[in-house]
Amino acid sequence: MPQNNQTNFTLPVVEIFHSIQGEGYNAGKPVIFVRFGGCNLNCPWCDTDWSKSKQMTEKAIIEKVSKLSKEYNCDNIIFTGGEPMMYAIYNLVQALKIKGFWIGVETNGISDGNNQLILDNLIDWISCSPKYEFRDKYLGLMAASEIRIVCSDVNDNFIDWCKKIQKRFTAPVFHQAMMGNKYFNKEPLFYLSPCDIKPDKVNKINKDCSFAIQPMLYIYNKLKDDGWRISLQLHKLMKVR
Ligand code: SF4
Repeated sequence: MPQNNQTNFTLPVVEIFHSIQGEGYNAGKPVIFVRFGGCNLNCPWCDTDWSKSKQMTEKAIIEKVSKLSKEYNCDNIIFTGGEPMMYAIYNLVQALKIKGFWIGVETNGISDGNNQLILDNLIDWISCSPKYEFRDKYLGLMAASEIRIVCSDVNDNFIDWCKKIQKRFTAPVFHQAMMGNKYFNKEPLFYLSPCDIKPDKVNKINKDCSFAIQPMLYIYNKLKDDGWRISLQLHKLMKVR
């Protein structure tokens, strides 16, 4: 059900640009990123400046996306942030879906405000990245295509928490509810990523690890038999936005 019906409804946008998805299952896919400002979490290692946004109307966002789509011959959009799911994006997603775009969303999973988009088959791919630092917060997202966890700590509690997240997103009752859904009727994929923080901070977490890859490999070796895989941030390695 639409949450608003005005194309002059505004949303906080940091930037809209064409690039390559660098993470998860869709790594290598050409996409137009729509980066929203603001976030409902404040991770100490956040590598995205989502503080400087400007209000854009839905109409202006659609125009900019359409322009980039023509310029780069690209029909894929990823809503990212900040946290896109804490805004009333239903109408915008619906309008872009009607235009034939493939739509992905990157979210921390906290907000339950846009689950209707999932129920109405309007999102093709959801990457959910829950945060260990905020593990006590309720996760409101009802389904995900992939879970990407940043290895921001190295201990048994972190590993237990990853297992808990996996159990939550593969629970039979959860999937039975989604069986009629076009995109979310399968179990999600599970990925671990390195935490992109300075080596001196990593060393404070675990003296045996000299780089962010090492803590991730430690966690990976404990979880690989449960189906977890590694996702590096290719855009950073390639030095593209
Ligand atoms: S949830 Fe993502 S965007 Fe928000 S503070 Fe954490 S890392 Fe940054």
